Amino acid sequence: MPAPNFDVIASLAKRRGFVFPSSEIYGGMAGFWDYGPLGVELKNNVKAAWWRHMVQLRDDVEGIDAAIIMNPRVWEASGHVAGFSDPMVDCRSCKLRFRLDDLKGDPSEIACPNCGNRGTLTEPRQFNLMFATQVGPVADSSSVAYLRPETAQAMFVQFDNVATSMRRKLPFGIAQMGRSFRNEITPGNFIFRLREFEQMEMEFFVHPRDEDEWFAYWVDARHRWWTDVLGIDAARLRLRPHAADELSHYSKQTTDIEYQYPIGWSELEGVADRTDFDLKAHAVGSGKRLAIFDEESGEHIVPYVIEPAMGVDRAVLTVLVDGYTEEQVANEKRLVLKIHPRLAPIKAAVLPLLRNRPELVERARALTADLKQLVPAAYDDTASIGKLYRRQDEIGTPFCVTVDVETLDDGAATIRERDTMTQERVALDLVPQRIADLLGGRSAWEGVARTPPAS
Ligand code: ATP
Repeated sequence: MPAPNFDVIASLAKRRGFVFPSSEIYGGMAGFWDYGPLGVELKNNVKAAWWRHMVQLRDDVEGIDAAIIMNPRVWEASGHVAGFSDPMVDCRSCKLRFRLDDLKGDPSEIACPNCGNRGTLTEPRQFNLMFATQVGPVADSSSVAYLRPETAQAMFVQFDNVATSMRRKLPFGIAQMGRSFRNEITPGNFIFRLREFEQMEMEFFVHPRDEDEWFAYWVDARHRWWTDVLGIDAARLRLRPHAADELSHYSKQTTDIEYQYPIGWSELEGVADRTDFDLKAHAVGSGKRLAIFDEESGEHIVPYVIEPAMGVDRAVLTVLVDGYTEEQVANEKRLVLKIHPRLAPIKAAVLPLLRNRPELVERARALTADLKQLVPAAYDDTASIGKLYRRQDEIGTPFCVTVDVETLDDGAATIRERDTMTQERVALDLVPQRIADLLGGRSAWEGVARTPPAS
């Protein structure tokens, strides 16, 4: 089945409580979206899978959580004030703004893609993507600050504090997840390109001589995370090394992990070799030494940095697109979200077949309470069993447990698996453990840790 288009995904996401347009009752706001009750669970599961693998299961990475607003000198030293911009073109007629990259042809020759008028597009101009704000009571140029456009800079700026407090030697990494803001000219494609989004980035500091080995290691490790831990279809993933002319100003080599979206192959995550660009820039900007003692040479060296950087929202979108499955069952169409059980917002839903039988409802509710001790579980009796199954399939719940009249006699319930729809009858008090076992115990929750290369 080809990947469903973003409208289909956005409609499912809204209908089932994953993602809503921000401030929708006021007409929404381009580039901003809210996560609903199931979306926040899915997003948290993606973040937990990253933190677990990038920080907790490793012994060479430390986590931090830095402030979004930093001293504006950070963004001067990093090059963002001068250079974090996209060339853009305005239409004088309809007032819409376009990224030069998105236009098919020379703006002086082509028609405006929105209103169709010719000769109305301006010359390309650089447009800085950082959101500026003012800090403190005086609104003048000295109070200007920026909402961070990436999380990475905090890891460079706090390099010395982390290395010293945690007594680190090379190689080691600093990881962070959190909000970033970019005044994107053309936000869109649902949650693919946002103006407020979350990133998960890790700066891995290595001896300069080891950069190529670690770069290859991280490209491979990150690719495997998408397939092995998030369960994304490997056939829809590819690695794309950047050509020399598309490298960012700080990068010596970059490989993107791309996914085959309905809009075509696009970046999901980038692994960049940032060399010593950032630490040196901040050493110059701050006047502080940002280096680490190298016992072998007996000197301080400035490490090189390998950076895997990904967007949380783009990951959520990918999980939804990748899991979306339409099947023909008997004479009916079945829509199932075949996502990895680790990511499913609800792992097990208890569905009583008859909601007007108090003794059945009581058992089903007691079972839900037991299940909740082990896994995220839900109780639902608000519709017919067919509709209840459909709802759980569409939100990716791996197991449904039905409690029926026979339960009153045999003290058992039926567990139905989402993808195969196979059913098994299990004694009520054994259901929670059985579901935990079917989920694969610890390994299903945590995935496989990767061992770093000897360095
Ligand atoms: P693009 O080329 O798509 O603008 P980028 O190369 O500028 O992205 P990076 O600065 O490398 O992106 O950011 C790392 C990751 O952060 C990207 O791989 C993507 O997953 C995510 N990301 C970047 N910009 C956005 C955005 N506007 N909305 C959502 N996610 C984003």
